Amino acid sequence: MSDNKKTQVQEFEYKAEMKQLLHLIVHSLYTHPEIFLRELISNAADALSKVRFRQLTQSGPTENGDGELKVSITLDEENRRFVIEDNGVGMSEEELIANLGTVAKSGTLGFLQAMKERQQGEAGMDANLIGQFGVGFYSVFMVTEEVTVETKADGTDGCRWKSSGEGTYSIEKIERESRGTSISFTLREESKEFAESFRVENIIRKYSNFVDFPIYLDNKRINSVAALWQKPKSEVTEEELNEFYKFVSVDYQEPLSHLLLSLEGVVSFKALLFLPKEAPVDMLYQQGALEKHGPQLYVKKVMIQHECKELLPEYLRFVTGVVDTEDLPLNVSREVVQNSPVMAKIRQILTTKIIAWFESLAQEEPETFRRFYKAFGPVIKIGLNTDFTNREKLIELLRFESTATEDGEYVTLKEYVARMGEEQKEVYYLSGDNRRQLLSHPNLEYFRKKGIEVLLLVDPVDVFVIPSIGEYDGKPLKSIEKADIDFSKGDGEEDEALGSSLMEPVIRIFRETLGESVEDVVASHRLVNSPVTLVGSKDAMDSQVEKMLRMMNRDMASGKKILEVNPSHRVIKNLAGLCVLDENNPIIRTTMRQLFDGAQLLEGGLEDTADFVSRMTEIIEAATKSGKS
Ligand code: ADP
Ligand code: MG
Repeated sequence: MSDNKKTQVQEFEYKAEMKQLLHLIVHSLYTHPEIFLRELISNAADALSKVRFRQLTQSGPTENGDGELKVSITLDEENRRFVIEDNGVGMSEEELIANLGTVAKSGTLGFLQAMKERQQGEAGMDANLIGQFGVGFYSVFMVTEEVTVETKADGTDGCRWKSSGEGTYSIEKIERESRGTSISFTLREESKEFAESFRVENIIRKYSNFVDFPIYLDNKRINSVAALWQKPKSEVTEEELNEFYKFVSVDYQEPLSHLLLSLEGVVSFKALLFLPKEAPVDMLYQQGALEKHGPQLYVKKVMIQHECKELLPEYLRFVTGVVDTEDLPLNVSREVVQNSPVMAKIRQILTTKIIAWFESLAQEEPETFRRFYKAFGPVIKIGLNTDFTNREKLIELLRFESTATEDGEYVTLKEYVARMGEEQKEVYYLSGDNRRQLLSHPNLEYFRKKGIEVLLLVDPVDVFVIPSIGEYDGKPLKSIEKADIDFSKGDGEEDEALGSSLMEPVIRIFRETLGESVEDVVASHRLVNSPVTLVGSKDAMDSQVEKMLRMMNRDMASGKKILEVNPSHRVIKNLAGLCVLDENNPIIRTTMRQLFDGAQLLEGGLEDTADFVSRMTEIIEAATKSGKS
């Protein structure tokens, strides 16, 4: 540039993960390049709301005076130029480096991770992922090779940031009068559509119609700026609702259901809430993910907080939307949001209203409720152990598969209890990985034979939640894995079980053979088709809980089980016969070990498979011997 005064252009290198991200964006996201516009407008709106907030909370104008807070987009179709400008807070040099040079945002990191997993899976990028994360500013590199950001914050010098998104960026000081940010670039040839006003106008309407700052396109005002939640119910159209949902929730799908509230009383607020069709990927699998969710908080139509977790208890934070109150001051700080009695009251009312909403869905739109429960049932269950005020209502919302339902159909505890037989005093359940595995579980045989319904718990959190319910309608909830279930009643017709004298040697040799591997060996009446099964002692851990704990801690010893032996089973009878002939016949002990391992295998807890297979070969060999060898 000028020769006597050196311009100070500093070069910087992106962090490694940034390079990776940029690469992914340019090469994988390419199917939805239009979202770059949504991201840039949303950043501009954020910067503008920071100014609006300052204006409302500080006396006197900000440094540069203000004028209308707005976003302006200027297009030059001929030269494929695109410029978007805002008079928001702008950035200082340090902020530029921190905000645009690193992956500072957890959402972006989450996105990177999901991308990696997806790619290992096989399929590339899909709209769902983009919708869930939004990769922010960097999405601009989908449509251009080089971006220039000029910006100025109050009290700092103007700065120009430039990057081609290929590993480095540069920063230099510039003369800039007005506070705010302007982002400019030349569109790639294949993205030239984004310099056409018609196209850009449509995208703004599609994604950014509810941004509450005016957006100008070549000086023409585009968006409507309507606070939908302030309108009376009758004036809100389905289409507006769907659009608004997509806007606030950054979802590409339509919402599953919505709730419009207008409350006046101890506190007054209006709310427009939505249920998404699916749970965001992070919600179920990432610890602490719910911390980052929640509806938006507005005070007197001014956005105060994006994801206000204080509005809802943790187990309801998948509910999105907007809550707008007149009862908080505009300059409400984070601390006030956390501690204000007004917020506590709003949360309490919202919780009640939301649970009532779920109840009415269950009653009036069972299909919608089922879909909702499939997506968010596991999250709701957190509430059973955290929200004791609403516990009873939450218990009524619970749904389970059972031996009496079709695959994928649910039963409530109320329905279960209503159809329990006269003599049945307890609610039975069995937990495991999936329905198929559970249905073939030996412990179920007795119940199926007797026609007693058993709840099949396939959601991993059930084993933590269900025992804590304790009892429903005076009926204890009991795992059929536990040994103290009383099978004595009405068992008269049990066919040709071995008598105790014949069983005695079988049980004794079982005990001898298995030694320390089991807590005990006993004759059992719960089995019908299986020779043996493992059950936990009365106060043992549920085997699913144990399995999970062991996944987390490999060294944890597994709790000992009781082996129950079926005196009516062919194999046990054969063993008893062999014992009478010769107790020392080695096939007896081999068979017993094998039966025990088989039972462990069914529970998913067999460690030494090599032994299992070699013993199996031994037994097959014995079984296939011609008789005269
Ligand atoms: P996010 O908006 O989710 O934080 P982005 O990648 O979209 O992530 O933006 C990164 C950061 O860059 C923003 O958090 C903000 O601090 C800053 N930024 C981006 N655009 C602007 C802008 N127009 N005005 C002021 N700051 C901006
Ligand atoms: Mg952003």
